Amino acid sequence: MRVRVLGKSPAWQDVDGACSGYLVEEGDYRLLLECGNGVFGKLRAHIDYVDLDACVISHCHADHTLDLVPYSYALVFAPRQQPVPVPPWPGTDDPARPELHLPPGGEKVMRTVMTAWGMPELVERAFRSSEYDPEAVLTLGPLEIRFRAVPHFVPAYAVEVRSTVTGGRFVYGSDCAPNEDLVDFAQHADLFFVEATLPRPERSGPRGHLTAGEAGEAAARAAVKRAVLVHISDEEDASVALERARETAGDVPVEMAAAESIYDL
Ligand SMILES: [Zn+2]
Ligand SMILES: [Zn+2]
Repeated sequence: MRVRVLGKSPAWQDVDGACSGYLVEEGDYRLLLECGNGVFGKLRAHIDYVDLDACVISHCHADHTLDLVPYSYALVFAPRQQPVPVPPWPGTDDPARPELHLPPGGEKVMRTVMTAWGMPELVERAFRSSEYDPEAVLTLGPLEIRFRAVPHFVPAYAVEVRSTVTGGRFVYGSDCAPNEDLVDFAQHADLFFVEATLPRPERSGPRGHLTAGEAGEAAARAAVKRAVLVHISDEEDASVALERARETAGDVPVEMAAAESIYDL
């Protein structure tokens, strides 16, 4: 199983970067985990977008979903997706419709956003859209997907992707405040993507994100084999964030995600 970082920015993009988006490939199966702003273009640099099998979304914030909009426009309006020939394309009665697995309530969120823009059904026309049951195992080709609710400003789910071919386990923490469920969910994962959004804890109100130090601590307590900091801006000093994470990560190796980072497991 290969995990590729398409974008690791927080709610605004790095220079030439993208918000959350991770391409998971096992054999010829292709899963996109998150589709934040900028991700569609990054995806196209690696695969033909009509060849994606499925997209899974952890929570309905813009930086995890916004590029579902251009992706949907492409699937609905691209010349080769039409039933009639549009040169140089021959026309098709079977246009590509990747699966889209949204969190509970996600279809309403996408419909509400698209209603404001005058095309309420765009995403549902483009994708075979459904909402996952966070309590159930979702089988996608050679991948098993599990979910765990984590505390955030909207309902959010950490996601485990397990290869049934290699047995490799990739756990992605979504966006979350410090919590025990993520530590439990990520136990002994081969690869752990953990958000390190904040230079310091939120000063007021409910918490919804981690600092790099808290990310390192979660990785240590989960005893993962390898941790990668994600959801962090290029406007932060990466070396400082990495140092803070390593101070709390114990024996767990920690690195900073970069666009195009690749992990095989
Ligand atoms: Zn979020
Ligand atoms: Zn986010």
